[in-house]
Amino acid sequence: MRKLEDKTLIVASHNAGKIREIRELIGPLGFEAKSAADLNFAEPNETGTTFEENATIKALASAKAAGLPALSDDSGLVVDALNGDPGVYTANWAETADGTRDFAMAMEKVETALQDAGATAFDRRTGRFVSVLCLAWPDGHVELFRGEVEGHIVWPPRGTQGFGYDPVFQPLGYDTTFGEMSADAKHGWKPGDAQALSHRARAFKLFAETCLGA
Ligand code: IMP
Repeated sequence: MRKLEDKTLIVASHNAGKIREIRELIGPLGFEAKSAADLNFAEPNETGTTFEENATIKALASAKAAGLPALSDDSGLVVDALNGDPGVYTANWAETADGTRDFAMAMEKVETALQDAGATAFDRRTGRFVSVLCLAWPDGHVELFRGEVEGHIVWPPRGTQGFGYDPVFQPLGYDTTFGEMSADAKHGWKPGDAQALSHRARAFKLFAETCLGA
């Protein structure tokens, strides 16, 4: 496992919600995060069929463009009654005809698919958020970390915090959705903690322990 020596890290993302969360997680460890969006890097096409493949594509593109290590996140919502959909296509389900993203519409699509599948009872509405973080160096070396959090898909959406599909995801053991949680509660982790809550914080904890010695 290669350690990260640079104190500047490129966050290989154009997604404002993800960039904010990665900044919140890495800030206390003394790193400065510059995003691919801030640096005007082009968004690579996510042509992979797994979270790992797409995370690797994004991290390598930014690391090579910046000449610095870059951390990407490929994530999504995996719903059991939908045979794993939307999965790696979670962002695509939010795409509108004019090329923008509409997550209210995307959450409705998931709900309609659950209704069509007959998954109306709470215990049939299980799923998980998955996050794969990839740290890539300009020489092509990569390290991958996966985090998952189990939960239920609820309807109607609840809460205005977080981003994306947060208002319809209620993690197991909680009676609030991610949309109803503060950023700190959703992460459920700070450096040194043994547990994390969100998929991204769980993957980040592995990354921090492995590559940052945190
Ligand atoms: P991608 O990783 O860029 O393919 O996009 C993943 C999509 O999954 C995002 O656009 C979000 O809509 C969704 N997603 C990933 N993580 C979260 C999260 O923590 N909360 C809510 N939605 C998420």
